[in-house]
Amino acid sequence: MTPKTLQTALVHSEYAPPAGFSALPPAIHHASTVLFESVAALRGHVHDWSDKSSYTYGLKGTPTTYELEARLAEIEGGTLCLVTPSGLAAITLVDMALLATGDDVLLPDNVYGPSRELGSWLQARLGVTARFYDPLIGSGLAGMIRPTTRLVWVEAPGSVSMEVPDVPALTRAAHAHGALVAMDNTWSAGLAFQPFAHGVDISIQALTKYQSGGSDVLMGAVITRDAELARRLGAVHHLLGYGVGKDDAYLVLRSLPSLKLRFEAHDRGARQVAAWLKERPEIVRLLHPAFPDCPGHESWKRDFTGAGGVFSVLFAPRFTEAQIDAFIDGLELFKIGYSWGGAVSLCLPYRMADMRERWEAKGTLVRFHIGLEDPQDLIEDIRRSLSVNLG
Ligand SMILES: *Cc1c(COP(=O)(O)O)cnc(C)c1O
Repeated sequence: MTPKTLQTALVHSEYAPPAGFSALPPAIHHASTVLFESVAALRGHVHDWSDKSSYTYGLKGTPTTYELEARLAEIEGGTLCLVTPSGLAAITLVDMALLATGDDVLLPDNVYGPSRELGSWLQARLGVTARFYDPLIGSGLAGMIRPTTRLVWVEAPGSVSMEVPDVPALTRAAHAHGALVAMDNTWSAGLAFQPFAHGVDISIQALTKYQSGGSDVLMGAVITRDAELARRLGAVHHLLGYGVGKDDAYLVLRSLPSLKLRFEAHDRGARQVAAWLKERPEIVRLLHPAFPDCPGHESWKRDFTGAGGVFSVLFAPRFTEAQIDAFIDGLELFKIGYSWGGAVSLCLPYRMADMRERWEAKGTLVRFHIGLEDPQDLIEDIRRSLSVNLG
């Protein structure tokens, strides 16, 4: 060993930790530079960005993100997962990987708002056509498909208005005409709906929601079990420069063991609060997929095994928007803010007519995320604000 000055020793330490360490939490491996053993190893390296059997550069991944990706793929029955800096970044990755000028993409009219904006952006900037279909169209989708239709997005249910589409009918129609199907499967956390068993080609998750569970991390995932799609997605994941912080990846890994238990607790609480709201005279319609009032309830019953914590209600049209705002402001346990999947309950009003091509229902739509509080306390909170503000 060549003798070193202190300065060099500060950079190149002799210390190596003793072998044999073992613990339950996954290790957090930080890296931009990933080291190769030799130039020969570097030259022999295959630059397939979907290949998770070797290391190239921190952006592609370290054992921490590889483990997270593998575990997320396992949940949904996929074979490849790519983590992205947000749920929206996952949607953008799919569109960028699969669409080119002249192509057509179909999105449900109840799709996650920024996904809709992205469709319009692709149309204005890249010459892709983006069209919107009625989420309940089912096999009728076949009539909308053009020879240029490459991709059909599915969201089940739509995350504000909650219509549950017939996913198998949509995937059959798309595949019969050579289009791929990507699904935003965030609502079910990948637990209550198995996308690949229902014909979906690519599933995306906003890990920001249940997988994080902490209302603190922004992250997304794209999952597939098709090797060719994995290769195409991996190449564009690389070109977009997507990476995630390894500390953030650890936070999601830390939350995964409790994912199903939390999801089921959100689900129980949400059904309890929803059942109570359904009987209230202020509410004209409960939009919760597990209740028969919800458009597409039959598809939910056939295809889903749970529902999680998010649902909406329509208030009677006799209440003004200002009254509904006062009702939400008057809640104490429910906070006002976007997203869901955390321990704290959330509540938001929506102006549906501004968000949709077609929206006929009257009355203000309010979305609830039921957190992990005692549902009875949440019901009392709602009861009090209803009587103070709408009584
Ligand atoms: C939150 C959400 C996203 C986007 O996730 P971010 O991490 O917030 O970008 C996408 N789709 C659905 C259905 C969501 O609820």
